[in-house]
Amino acid sequence: MSSRPLPYHTAKTLRSVSDLVEAGLVRPEQAERLDKVAERYGIAIPPMLAALIDPSDPNDPIARQFVPSARELIQTADELTDPIGDDAHSPLPGVVHRYPDRVLLKPVLVCPVYCRFCFRREQVGDADATLSENALDAALDYIADAPQVREVILTGGDPLMLGAERIAKLSSALASIPHLDVVRWHSRIPVADPERITPALVRALAVPFETGKAAWLSVHVNHPRELAAAAVEAIGRLRQGGLTLVAQTVLLNGVNDQAPILEALFRSLVRLGVKPYYLHHPDLAPGTGHFRLKIAQGQALVRALKGRLSGIAQPTYVLDIPGGAGKSALGPDCWDAVDGTITDWRGIAHDYRE
Ligand SMILES: *Cc1c(COP(=O)(O)O)cnc(C)c1O
Ligand code: SF4
Repeated sequence: MSSRPLPYHTAKTLRSVSDLVEAGLVRPEQAERLDKVAERYGIAIPPMLAALIDPSDPNDPIARQFVPSARELIQTADELTDPIGDDAHSPLPGVVHRYPDRVLLKPVLVCPVYCRFCFRREQVGDADATLSENALDAALDYIADAPQVREVILTGGDPLMLGAERIAKLSSALASIPHLDVVRWHSRIPVADPERITPALVRALAVPFETGKAAWLSVHVNHPRELAAAAVEAIGRLRQGGLTLVAQTVLLNGVNDQAPILEALFRSLVRLGVKPYYLHHPDLAPGTGHFRLKIAQGQALVRALKGRLSGIAQPTYVLDIPGGAGKSALGPDCWDAVDGTITDWRGIAHDYRE
């Protein structure tokens, strides 16, 4: 445990540049440029995360993820409004159907925190984009009429923002669709606003074992410091409530691009009973160039972790192919059919030919 003093305590979510100035997280002379960032992208830093920031550290990994930066105004030619091609595979509002056996359902586009690197940053933050009852019913009908769909992935935005009552309804509607095996929730709330993980919410999320179906929850977490005591307790409530937990991490320049940081994060997760699932290479979201690193850097990190961590603590390093083709593993240790070699965790190639 760090003895670093928690520098700032707030009861409310910081939602504007002036809130950030008042909290000492932004210098007053930065405000004018950051207002331009705020015109385009949402800002929200809940008390839990604000309290983790050390304002005296210019490279604080928590601040870097959530405090807006003037660098977001720099857009490069390769960046895309819809980097992973959701729109190309959307049969109706709130639904993305890219792979035959699973669909994304996005009931809300609001989040407890707005991550500065978000791949859907052009879409999130709009409370008016919450699916209406009718649109949600249409989405459920689409899923019910698609027997090849075995899994529904609730994402957004952050679907846990719906609250216990609406989640209970949605989750039992999904559990009653005979061909579904899995309901999977993607959320940042366990680390961003763990108090929202109430016993009622956990009951709403859970799918009883007797149904023969399972509820999974993927926690978005990028730095070991995000796993503060309250987050750990929230994760405990979810596990005890019967959810199977995995984690998704975005590999980010200046946040977690060092093997010891990733090692600490993944070790903490497995100790909490959470399987690190994906390590995402950053997407080409607008104004996020300062977060991107080279794939070769990511591969070197993944190789370093192979020698340091158990297999259950290692996520798959993936790229979401721009345009909507889906996710592909980035290696580094795939078999090379042309060379007839397979590379081990030390980087040494071994002959293996068929
Ligand atoms: C990421 C994603 C999924 C889930 O992929 P998994 O590899 O099963 O985690 C499903 N549909 C879409 C459109 C996605 O972007
Ligand atoms: S919580 Fe997820 S969807 Fe929301 S801003 Fe962060 S990365 Fe984007």
